[in-house]
Amino acid sequence: MALGAARGRESIVMFTIGTGIGGAVAQDRQIVRGKGTAGQLGHITVDISGEACVCGRRGCVETTSSGTALGRHIARAGLGPDVSIDQLFARDAGGDTLARGILEAWARPLRAAIDSAVAMFAPDLVLLGGGLGAAAHRALASAPALAPWYQCPVEPAQLGDDAGVIGAGLQALAAQATVTQASSVSLLSARLDPGRHAVPTRRAVLVNGIPASGKSTVSRGIADRMGWPLLTLDTIKNPFLEALGGGDREFNRTLGRASYQAIWSVVGEAPAGTTIVVDAWFGFQPRQVLEDHLRRAGVEQTAEIWCHAPGEVLAERYRTRLDQRPAGHPGAAYIPELIELAKRAEPLRRGPLFDIDTTKPIAFDAITQWLQATIAAVP
Ligand SMILES: [Zn+2]
Repeated sequence: MALGAARGRESIVMFTIGTGIGGAVAQDRQIVRGKGTAGQLGHITVDISGEACVCGRRGCVETTSSGTALGRHIARAGLGPDVSIDQLFARDAGGDTLARGILEAWARPLRAAIDSAVAMFAPDLVLLGGGLGAAAHRALASAPALAPWYQCPVEPAQLGDDAGVIGAGLQALAAQATVTQASSVSLLSARLDPGRHAVPTRRAVLVNGIPASGKSTVSRGIADRMGWPLLTLDTIKNPFLEALGGGDREFNRTLGRASYQAIWSVVGEAPAGTTIVVDAWFGFQPRQVLEDHLRRAGVEQTAEIWCHAPGEVLAERYRTRLDQRPAGHPGAAYIPELIELAKRAEPLRRGPLFDIDTTKPIAFDAITQWLQATIAAVP
């Protein structure tokens, strides 16, 4: 491997622990790829009579040791959904057996999966990435490897030195996305700039503005120039509108909320260090909903690009696009509402803010320079 902690390592296994569990394997300095299931480490079986998994089998490590699974262990123990992993560690350190039980239920199957990976690949190093990688590494202290077969260093993939391996993970993810198509949502375009160091957590560029405010031109331009994956509300929503047929306004809103949630679920699966461009009208749901999504997706830094134009301009843009939108989007009747919305719509003002009047030519050079200085800078 060419970069970072991977330098000099012949063979590395990485588990990414977020909403689900993903992974990547590098052997003899080559990333294992080529088949749809290569590197699907979340589907290592740890309990053949365990819970049903999305893959159709039972007891995959994703069902026991992902972030979603941690939430289930917490709920089963009778604790509320607002208990954080840090609180669990603190309670465990204070001798709380309930917290210890939750951490063990979460970590022991992961240890079994790591042991299986070690048995298969005999890696030089096992890395734990994803939003919960560091927490999983800490929890593993209560589930040691069985000596001596499965001894292998396990480290959290969080520091700049792990850039190469995170890059490998990204490449592997992109390769899987190409094969499976199921997760084609722009992770295809995920790539790591080899000149840049990896950053410890996920970051999101929030391209915000009301309908017809010019967000899509801006977000696509940023994604192309920065090489960051792009997720838009319409990318997720439109295929469902096409497949299910248009419904009423309420159906459209429900689909919008579900698509919004889907965006953050996808972000939560991305490897640590990923920066994602998210294009949405963030004001359509309460602020707390966004904060909850960001926390669950492991996004620790955001920058906001606020796109706006006068109401009459938005109305004209909206009118000319009416025939291009799939049935189910609100029609011409929405235009007066849009003009009213333009008067009171506000940016989130969450983190650094860049303001764009989309009636003028978009100054992409200024935007990318600003992003490099605010969100892409090495911490
Ligand atoms: Zn599975």
